[in-house]
Amino acid sequence: MAFKKASVRDAEVKGRRVLVRVDFNVPLADHAPGREAEEVGRHVADDTRIRAALPTIELLRERGAALVLMSHLGRPEGKPDPALSLAPVAKRLGELLGTTVKLAPGVIEGDVDLTCGALGPGDVLLLENLRFEPGETKNDPHLAENLGQLASVYVNDAFGAAHRAHASTAGVADYLPAYAGLLLEREVTELEKVVESPERPLVVVLGGAKVSDKVGVIDRFLEVADQILIGGAMCFGFFKAQGIATGNSLVEGVELAGEALERAKQSDCELTLPVDLVLGREFSADTERKESDGVEVPEGWMGLDIGPRSAERYAEAIAGAGTVLWNGPMGAFEMEPFAAGTRRVAEAVAAAPGTTVVGGGDSVAALNQFGLEDQVDWVSTGGGASLELLEGKKLPGVEALLDAEEETADA
Ligand code: ADP
Ligand code: MG
Repeated sequence: MAFKKASVRDAEVKGRRVLVRVDFNVPLADHAPGREAEEVGRHVADDTRIRAALPTIELLRERGAALVLMSHLGRPEGKPDPALSLAPVAKRLGELLGTTVKLAPGVIEGDVDLTCGALGPGDVLLLENLRFEPGETKNDPHLAENLGQLASVYVNDAFGAAHRAHASTAGVADYLPAYAGLLLEREVTELEKVVESPERPLVVVLGGAKVSDKVGVIDRFLEVADQILIGGAMCFGFFKAQGIATGNSLVEGVELAGEALERAKQSDCELTLPVDLVLGREFSADTERKESDGVEVPEGWMGLDIGPRSAERYAEAIAGAGTVLWNGPMGAFEMEPFAAGTRRVAEAVAAAPGTTVVGGGDSVAALNQFGLEDQVDWVSTGGGASLELLEGKKLPGVEALLDAEEETADA
């Protein structure tokens, strides 16, 4: 199916100022001591999200637009916080683009307009952290209008923030013609393909810790997938719902898991749970560890990974899939004694002949940790946004964009 929104590729931008919402919500780290004095301060610890926005930024620069970029970073809760300044991001972006990226001291008019007026074709200005303004997360129309005054075209490339109706992701589209950036377009297209027209069988691997966030996606996949493989802390809600002992494991969403088990009986989709586990005494790398051939967790223990038999079964299902979607690690993979299940699944996804899509911040971190990120067909940059889209919810940041013209959709 064709992407239904107007693309930045079709926007008239030559000689115009373009306001681009990007997702530069990247992890920052402090410089190691002993560095040069001018390097003291925070720096970007992982620039994946900055790189992901480069195609749109480069396209606009090549086409002679002046760029005003904007993003949030962390949760400063509506007031300036120097620790969450986008200054390190401006520096890193400048290195990647090979140009100077100016940082505006704020977001609204008085802070920006003069600098903004001096921008020429190909120039790049980054606004300071949007969430320094209380109006951003409230989708305040006054802030949205102010942002709209900074340019004559708006592009949203912040897929990771598209599930939020904020001033910079939704409100601003009331004041400017609004286009999809290349990353946002690709994200929506790849993820919609998984639920709407997947190569079959469609195998979905779900894990991680945020069970209540992910139950909606289980419901959707019981309708559209052929098999769902459950791992991570998520499986304990299912075990508890079946009356199986879970010891000190992280258990969440028991009722919802029970309902999903009921629905699974009526569905053609197979819901698969682990058959063995790796247990630890506590959530720590040097805790006592044992493998258990079965899924009952005794008192005094917690399940921290799927066991080797489960991992092998999951790897086989992944190898036989036409499409694989993976969201959520199989265990506490950050700790080596509990990383094997996640590693086995990651390797299977990387080697799978079918189309492979991975989403979720920690799942992507696991892929990176194992050096497999290049062997997956699509790595989504948006955790919450990708789940909501897969659930079938409308994303405000996408809905706000102009519709593609009829002739573009037919082409
Ligand atoms: P994602 O970011 O990929 O969507 P989540 O945020 O839902 O994934 O979950 C990731 C976290 O889940 C990891 O930090 C991992 O340590 C934790 N986790 C996975 N399995 C378990 C488990 N059995 N018990 C406790 N924590 C777990
Ligand atoms: Mg996470």
